[in-house]
Amino acid sequence: MIPVDPAPECALRWQAQLQRAWRDPAALLVHLGHDPAEFPLADAGQFPFLVTRAFADRMRRGDPDDPLLRQVLPRVDEDSPAPGFGPDPVGDSASRAVRGVLHKYRGRALLIATGACPIHCRYCFRREFDYAGDTLAGPALEAAIDYIAGQPDIEEVILSGGDPLMLSTGRLQRLTDALSGIGHFKRLRIHSRVPVTLPARIDDALCDWLAGLGRQVVVVVHANHAREFGADVSDGIARLHRTGATTFNQAVLLAGVNDMPGTLVELMEAGFAAGAIPYYLHLLDRVSGSAHFEVPRTRALALMDAVRRRLPGYLVPRLVEERAGEPYKMPVF
Ligand SMILES: *Cc1c(COP(=O)(O)O)cnc(C)c1O
Ligand code: SF4
Repeated sequence: MIPVDPAPECALRWQAQLQRAWRDPAALLVHLGHDPAEFPLADAGQFPFLVTRAFADRMRRGDPDDPLLRQVLPRVDEDSPAPGFGPDPVGDSASRAVRGVLHKYRGRALLIATGACPIHCRYCFRREFDYAGDTLAGPALEAAIDYIAGQPDIEEVILSGGDPLMLSTGRLQRLTDALSGIGHFKRLRIHSRVPVTLPARIDDALCDWLAGLGRQVVVVVHANHAREFGADVSDGIARLHRTGATTFNQAVLLAGVNDMPGTLVELMEAGFAAGAIPYYLHLLDRVSGSAHFEVPRTRALALMDAVRRRLPGYLVPRLVEERAGEPYKMPVF
């Protein structure tokens, strides 16, 4: 008799897929053909191990240095303190306008829509962020909308987090309904790793919401390695395009993940093939526990030189770093 398989991942709705995400690093390591004893892990504490199956399915079996695995595995290196690394490397606390709103740059305000993410990226600068005290729940949402309404220079509202697409479509709809009366609000931007890590989330309801906004929509996805752009990801981005949205990809330059010229070239080409135009390549934000991901600045510049020699200009990302107090993300030359 043929054994009955459990429902294939692609047939499950996104909420069910999230419930099935990997939460135990040892279980994923065994699944990938490793002996967990060979991977000394940090106590992940407040930022526990989490990765969706859609993302983990793109990891290579038997490769201890897999660049996708490396992004999510809480290695023991996280526990070693490093000089210059701290809890708020980009000065987010200082740019907080009201609860849940960061107004750092002219013309754009960033809303911390939720603290939840589909995946926990070990290099993330928000890993130390106090979400509980700073997300947009209840009356905080009203205060945030009032703030935006009172700042006529804010033409673009950026939904970020955490990951805004972790919210239900109903909640997203209520959020943009609240913004819809603001005349100077022209563009909605969504910063999300969901299209790459949980492509099933780009469902009909989400697309209907975006298509019905009556505002220009920009979606900035986040992938750091070419292999993150699976066929399911391209399909999801194509669904976004059908709503009229424009999509970009931003990446972080990460040691052991994408710090080789060929790897960066492949990332930009794969992103473009999937429909996401290269946007920023960020130098690592120096958040505590991420020092083992840092690529020295001289090496970053040499990599950019190599990338420029191999790609058309429109596929070359802008190498930037975020410095607290500066009026934009600083180009690195
Ligand atoms: C990165 C960021 C933005 C967006 O900057 P762009 O250069 O427009 O991509 C806006 N607000 C905050 C707080 C940010 O960190
Ligand atoms: S905010 Fe983005 S980069 Fe940070 S952990 Fe969440 S998904 Fe990863």
